[in-house]
Amino acid sequence: MSKIICIDAGHGGRDPGAVGNGLKEADLTSCIAQGVAQRLEAYACEVHMVPRTEDLAERAAYANSHRANLFLSIHVNAGGGTGFESYTYLTTGVETKETQTVIHNAVMGYMQKFNMPDRGQKATNFQVLRETAMPAVLLECLFIDRQEDAKLLKSPVFLDGLANEVAYGVVQALGLQKVSVDDPKPDPCANCQRISDLIIENTKLHDENMRTKQLIKEVKILLNNI
Ligand SMILES: [Zn+2]
Repeated sequence: MSKIICIDAGHGGRDPGAVGNGLKEADLTSCIAQGVAQRLEAYACEVHMVPRTEDLAERAAYANSHRANLFLSIHVNAGGGTGFESYTYLTTGVETKETQTVIHNAVMGYMQKFNMPDRGQKATNFQVLRETAMPAVLLECLFIDRQEDAKLLKSPVFLDGLANEVAYGVVQALGLQKVSVDDPKPDPCANCQRISDLIIENTKLHDENMRTKQLIKEVKILLNNI
């Protein structure tokens, strides 16, 4: 049975989220979420975009009613810091933590190329993480109110690359298989050199982690099929 992924683009509707440097969080999260969904089309999975209601309980209920295998919430940070961080709920299982690690590392491999710091894998009591009944990971992608971060967030090319890496992390974490080699749909593995680098990096980071080794093996198979 194919895996079900609910992508939650943070804020939207009447809620712009954080604002700064001429940017609105809701616009950025929409852009990244669409890019992730588009790339996952090439893989055997079902993707649902979570309705952008201001009622966060409804967002969680949507994912629960779809019996999703992953709830992926995309946000942009504010408050004067810099860099990338990811969140799970306070008390969460090994599967969720592993999923967070794989997606976090995929994104950080990208962020490091832009000298954006790793703020770490964190746990918190966010409502969408608490009320979702499946592995749920929330990404805080740079700081909208810091000029250097905002410079990147203003670039459609940067956002597209970021969506690519998030999708790649999801593919790895859920072990998704490509639908068809000849499929004309967008391909998260378009930049094989960058992905090879990430694989090497992941191998270094998780030498003792058998699950990650298995995922790396699967990604190598995917790469050979391109
Ligand atoms: Zn937010």
